[in-house]
Amino acid sequence: MKTFIPGQDGYAAATAGFQTGVRSAPELVVAAEGARDVAEAVRHANAYGLTVDVEATGHGRRTPAEGVLISTRRMTDVAIDPARATARVGAGTTWGAVIAAAAEHGLAPLSGSAPGVGVVGYTLGGGFSLLGRRYGLAADRVRSAEVVTTDGTIERTTDAGAGVVTALEFGLVSVTSLYGGGLYFDTLRLPDILRAWRDWTTDLPDALTTSLALIPYPDLPMVPQPLRGKHIAHVRVAHLGAGGPELAAPLRAKGPLVDTLTTMPFTESGAIAAEPPIPHAYLGDNRVVAHLPDSTLAAILEHAGPGAPVPTVLIIDLLGGAYAHSTAPDFTPQSRYTVRALSVVETTGPDPIRAAHAKLFDPLATTGRLRSFVYGQPFRPGS
Ligand SMILES: Cc1cc2nc3c(=O)[nH]c(=O)nc-3n(C[C@H](O)[C@H](O)[C@H](O)COP(=O)(O)OP(=O)(O)OC[C@H]3O[C@@H](n4cnc5c(N)ncnc54)[C@H](O)[C@@H]3O)c2cc1C
Repeated sequence: MKTFIPGQDGYAAATAGFQTGVRSAPELVVAAEGARDVAEAVRHANAYGLTVDVEATGHGRRTPAEGVLISTRRMTDVAIDPARATARVGAGTTWGAVIAAAAEHGLAPLSGSAPGVGVVGYTLGGGFSLLGRRYGLAADRVRSAEVVTTDGTIERTTDAGAGVVTALEFGLVSVTSLYGGGLYFDTLRLPDILRAWRDWTTDLPDALTTSLALIPYPDLPMVPQPLRGKHIAHVRVAHLGAGGPELAAPLRAKGPLVDTLTTMPFTESGAIAAEPPIPHAYLGDNRVVAHLPDSTLAAILEHAGPGAPVPTVLIIDLLGGAYAHSTAPDFTPQSRYTVRALSVVETTGPDPIRAAHAKLFDPLATTGRLRSFVYGQPFRPGS
């Protein structure tokens, strides 16, 4: 185990995660290599009356770590049990490593849009996956967890929320390939595509999981030319089994600028959402809704279309299907769509973003708010 205190070489790197808008300043960083290190860190925090914070990648950081920050990023073991179709991973493992290891056995995890996200943080928040409408939430597949409890004891439990997780065992699914990718539509098409996607999603089989993202692409050379400097509607599709092209045909017929739909190995599923793996500063919030009436689509367009008050990526996920039977936190069977906003802080600072989020979310008739998609600010259940 390595430890770092403020001012020491390595402290800055050890406290820097994916979310750069929240600067942690812990009194001690414990770069843990196993459960014993974590237990020792918890006991140390108890002895000195310090808070305990844990971080794998930093994608989900909401508030700065203060007392003892347990960094799990070195705990990256992955073991697949093909006979039981399970994976057992260390607390710092990211989805990319599980996807690669499981694929060697014809299996796949219920991973999400970005392979760089941490398995444990994702699963503790529910885990909304690319295959979610068929297989439900990742949290529902947890078999067991090794945790360090608040008194610093290492325990094996089925309740992953019982302390600092040091290892997680969960079920995999028999998936090797899917039909998926993205359809990217030009700025002027946004109102039409929002309505078309909403109408298309009223009657889709559970084999198809989809989301729609409104994305302001910067006018920079690194952005491919058809998308550069435009507000794009990006329809994301992941379909299992035969019939994917037929299901996607009505949206394809709308004439996207870029069409990446294809049959792909699950190992390439990160290309579906194609989210940039670059650390940045962001504020994020969300609501879950049962319906998407035209008035909500208009509010979404106002918030994240060409006239957006702050640069925002707005994502709507279709839920339903197997999600309806889920028991995960913050989740109700009436949850049909997420509406989630992720706004870049560097450009405007946080205040205009908070105002824009309030304007979008406050009037919505919602069925909940998902902790997984609250970034850079505290989450209060029920708020
Ligand atoms: C680009 C991006 C894409 C995303 N895509 C999806 C998606 O498709 N589906 C989805 O469901 N979510 C998604 N998320 C949300 C993501 O699941 C949450 O932000 C999650 O908390 C990230 O976990 P992490 O370990 O990567 O982040 P971290 O910031 O390292 O951890 C987040 C939190 O998880 C808890 N935690 C982490 N490790 C432990 C541990 N060992 N023991 C106890 N608690 C722990 C802590 O509360 C910690 O603050 C995405 C987020 C981003 C930024």
